[in-house]
Amino acid sequence: MAEKREFICITCPVGCTIEATVEGGKILSIRGQGCKRGIAFVKEELTAPKRMLTTTVQVRGGKLPLVPVRSREPLPKDRLFDIVAQLRQIVLQAPVAEHQIVLENAANTGVDIITSRAIPKLEENPS
Ligand code: SF4
Repeated sequence: MAEKREFICITCPVGCTIEATVEGGKILSIRGQGCKRGIAFVKEELTAPKRMLTTTVQVRGGKLPLVPVRSREPLPKDRLFDIVAQLRQIVLQAPVAEHQIVLENAANTGVDIITSRAIPKLEENPS
């Protein structure tokens, strides 16, 4: 049975609201997309939705206790929970470099999780 669905395209910062009539994973009609990438986005949402992952990972001995991390590419949405659970087990030792690989080939997706910034080592105060 055909149903009307609304999507917010996250492919670019414009964030078009797209209305589509879909049936059996197929698009019957679509409107609201600012460009054809919006159609590709809706097709992907209907078959294999993906999302960028951003979170934090613990750092030991750093100036900050956490470092922001992100996926190099969008990940299958249904793997995000497992990957976040794996990242919670990781503790990096400072110093941490920007774009350092934190988790290689996360959950066999072929996508690495990397740091978004550097965290310098916490210098001990001389006494
Ligand atoms: S439909 Fe095109 S213009 Fe609109 S958010 Fe998606 S990529 Fe950007």
